Amino acid sequence: MEKWVTQRTDDEGVLAWFRYFGWLYGATKFPPTDFSAGALFTTFKRRADANDGTLNDLGYMVSGGCGAIAGPLVEAIEENGGEIRTGTTVSKVVIEGGMARGVNVECQKPVVPTHIVDTEFIAAPIVAVAVPLWQILNVVSSHDLPPWYVDRLRFMCRKSLNTWTLTYVVDKAPSFPITDLMCVPDGPVTGRPWVAAILPYAEQPGQYAVTAFLYTAWHEPPSYFDRAEAGVRDEMKALFDDWEREIAQLFPELEENLVWKSRSIGPSSIFENPGNVGHNLISMVPSMVPEGVDNLYFIGERTQEAEVQGIYGSAQVALACADRILES
Ligand SMILES: Cc1cc2nc3c(=O)[nH]c(=O)nc-3n(C[C@H](O)[C@H](O)[C@H](O)COP(=O)(O)OP(=O)(O)OC[C@H]3O[C@@H](n4cnc5c(N)ncnc54)[C@H](O)[C@@H]3O)c2cc1C
Repeated sequence: MEKWVTQRTDDEGVLAWFRYFGWLYGATKFPPTDFSAGALFTTFKRRADANDGTLNDLGYMVSGGCGAIAGPLVEAIEENGGEIRTGTTVSKVVIEGGMARGVNVECQKPVVPTHIVDTEFIAAPIVAVAVPLWQILNVVSSHDLPPWYVDRLRFMCRKSLNTWTLTYVVDKAPSFPITDLMCVPDGPVTGRPWVAAILPYAEQPGQYAVTAFLYTAWHEPPSYFDRAEAGVRDEMKALFDDWEREIAQLFPELEENLVWKSRSIGPSSIFENPGNVGHNLISMVPSMVPEGVDNLYFIGERTQEAEVQGIYGSAQVALACADRILES
């Protein structure tokens, strides 16, 4: 891709644009050819189509932070007679006769780790499951779905692109331009490519949040889904330690002006690789309308209706689901 672009332009801005989006959409260390130029252009096209033909709104940050969405969402739910139960685990979606009937929620906390807690049934005419693809079978029994569908779900849901983030909140404006994105093509300690974004920190005027993003593919260790193993957690910690050392070396001002920092990692989407891109990928992931069950919707990251990855993709699915429910 880099070669193809440099044969056509030596404009540093254009090169930086391709590098950044190449990484953003799935640049992991091994193997570099996994994410193809075709996939990148397809992703741009989907994104542009979802944005009235433009690429103006390519940011994935919610201004004010994700908390800025929660307030109005809670208000809208409560105004419409809804009740919100936080800290309440859904044990299972209750499906009878090929129809979702409601959910069983856990109604107590385990007293001892081996305790199987009681559940309470909440009846509902429609159930929208908002957990991501890799958690659907935690709340929907595989016995309630067609076997071929469960098989495909199990296969796809672990093909994740895992996002590692390091967030630094600093009390002095960084010397690099705010809202610009920094690309580090080959970190001197990790040997990995990564990017970072800077935004004014919504919680505290005068502070800035610098978030660095690094990706690993499902086939690269350490394996996120095996994190219950102490050895895997050690490997995760080692990568974060190396990465922090690298950041301290490249951008010492972040440590010098630090208020706090935090680490996080998790699957953020399904990883695109040869044979698993564009329309092929879309046909492999489930639709928001699952097979074989009525009145049930899967609206989490990432179903066929999500044209792009991330929060924007989840929002697209939620809106498509709302339209569909209101039409029916
Ligand atoms: C480290 C990291 C950084 C990321 N950074 C960005 C970014 O900068 N920009 C971007 O656009 N995207 C980013 N993403 C991706 C983004 O977080 C996801 O696309 C988005 O959160 C998906 O939203 P969702 O509502 O579909 O699912 P989620 O946010 O995963 O929400 C699912 C919810 O279901 C709950 N849940 C699960 N099981 C149960 C149960 N049994 N009972 C009750 N509740 C349950 C979970 O607790 C969770 O709150 C990042 C992801 C990760 C992991």
